[in-house]
Amino acid sequence: MTLRERYEAIAAEVADACEACGRPRDAVRVIGVSKTVDIDAVEEAIAAGVHDFGENRPAELARKHDAFPQERWHFIGNIQSRQLNMVVGRACLIHSLCQESHADRIERLAAEQGIVQDVLIEVNDGEENKQGLPADDLLDMLLHCAALEHVRVRGLMTMAPQGDMDRAAATFKRLAELRDSMRAALRERGIENVDLHELSMGMSDDYREAIPQGATMVRIGRAIFSENYA
Ligand SMILES: *Cc1c(COP(=O)(O)O)cnc(C)c1O
Repeated sequence: MTLRERYEAIAAEVADACEACGRPRDAVRVIGVSKTVDIDAVEEAIAAGVHDFGENRPAELARKHDAFPQERWHFIGNIQSRQLNMVVGRACLIHSLCQESHADRIERLAAEQGIVQDVLIEVNDGEENKQGLPADDLLDMLLHCAALEHVRVRGLMTMAPQGDMDRAAATFKRLAELRDSMRAALRERGIENVDLHELSMGMSDDYREAIPQGATMVRIGRAIFSENYA
């Protein structure tokens, strides 16, 4: 199959999965994770209809963003403070924020540029994945970010344990429930400027599990960009 055929098959499957659980066909955005491919494959993906791309290294995000600034670039990698200057302003959405000090640095960089940076908070699955914030610390993080004028939290992100679809589905369900409880907790405190609409969850192996649980974004690398992924 060509890249176009792989992407079209996934896009159709995602739309069908939305419909099957009573959601609008365009409720889930497919992000093509281009971290392992070069500019030519990105170009091919754009021609095939991909307009959201995910990168996990700041310099690579900067390079590809600057080659295709009209596309939407998502930062999905571990954050290191001194590389945030390459990401803020270029990324339409930073999916992987999990430290208050990084939020403060994003605030300063975004203020300098006169923009508001959209972010997601990455939440730990509570099992083997070590990155992300423990669920118990999430409310404090949201309260911290709500006070920052140039950082806007749009939702939550997580990664499921690999290889077990039941556990993946349970992880995604927990993230959706956590979002609902955080919404209630924020409302109780009179905080209106944090909407938490987005749930970034699901990758090549487990996006089928994520959509019924309420994913609004799936991050798909190999199933789009690899010829050998089956
Ligand atoms: C690499 C990566 C993906 C895509 O993984 P695939 O299994 O290739 O679909 C998604 N999310 C994050 C955070 C990644 O690092």
